[in-house]
Amino acid sequence: MPITLSAEKLTAAQAFAELLTPGRRVALTTHVNPDGDGLGSEVGLAHLLHGLGVDVVVANPTPTPARFGFLFRDLPKLDHTTDAVKTLRTADVIVVLDISDLGRLGMLSTTVAERGVPVACIDHHVSPGTLPDGPRYVDPSAAATGELVSEIALANRWRLTPLVARALYVAVLTDTGGFRFSNTRPRTLRIAAELLEAGLDPESIYLDVYASAPAGRPRLLAEVLQTLVVEAGPGLAWVTVPPGAVERHQVTVDDLDGIVEFPRSVMGVRMALLFREMSQGRVKVSLRSVGEVDVAAFAKPFGGGGHVHASGVALTGSLPDVQAKILDAAREYLGKIPRG
Ligand code: 5GP
Ligand code: MN
Repeated sequence: MPITLSAEKLTAAQAFAELLTPGRRVALTTHVNPDGDGLGSEVGLAHLLHGLGVDVVVANPTPTPARFGFLFRDLPKLDHTTDAVKTLRTADVIVVLDISDLGRLGMLSTTVAERGVPVACIDHHVSPGTLPDGPRYVDPSAAATGELVSEIALANRWRLTPLVARALYVAVLTDTGGFRFSNTRPRTLRIAAELLEAGLDPESIYLDVYASAPAGRPRLLAEVLQTLVVEAGPGLAWVTVPPGAVERHQVTVDDLDGIVEFPRSVMGVRMALLFREMSQGRVKVSLRSVGEVDVAAFAKPFGGGGHVHASGVALTGSLPDVQAKILDAAREYLGKIPRG
């Protein structure tokens, strides 16, 4: 079955083609602590626009994790993150990828809010959005923002070169946990097939994303997993990053990616959490769930959000206080949801 797009999506994709044209300086940005989907979507769109002769740069609120540096190998001047505010100030158009909320743009949120240029958005989060006006291509049923960039390219008949395909495949691969999570739809695999047909090498992508870790990553994993607590009654499990462990193993918070899957992997667990101290007296909580348990809804009253089975929130307070507060709320929340 071919990939079909609704009339609404075709119109939205066309609005992007009309805005992103040669002569305009386009800046792409994504959320703080960018992940494979945010970065892969940016780099894929950058290669597409480059092919159309559009002047395009990436300017993110926080640096590109080493793991994803390979995405920028073929366009080494693309990443202007070290000079992000200035870059956004000289852009004619800003495209925000993989998030619809200003708050998640960190230190760039004021600049994006106040620039007065069109702010386009491509995203798959469940959120009303708080960005300034501009074209939108938002679909919460998509597994990854990379799927949506692929759709925009297909709708406009933009050429999927191997470099475009590689970046967008990284986006889809990472946000579906290697095509394992519940967000993997038939459409996701059809889009992945289009990307494979464009001539990418899946094994080299696997090696770049998952098998190029610093030795500190498995050592950090070992230390964090030692903290596992499982409460069989409510179906709750969590791990805690010991304060200072990330620095001690000479890695970054990106190297924590995927660890929360281990508490989720325990039989009977319905909600899994990872707690880590951030700077400035804040604590980041990563949440994952299975079945009926909606962690986006759970995180909302605390100011967080995300997807039904994967969400996050950052709270002010000490690690023990935040942990106690969130775990109490989790027990209460799970108590109201019957086991399926
Ligand atoms: P992770 O736990 O991998 O950092 O994030 C999982 C998902 O939760 C992401 O896709 C992102 O959408 C969402 N998320 C993570 N942290 C935050 C946060 O601080 N605020 C909001 N609104 N969403 C978050
Ligand atoms: Mn995403």
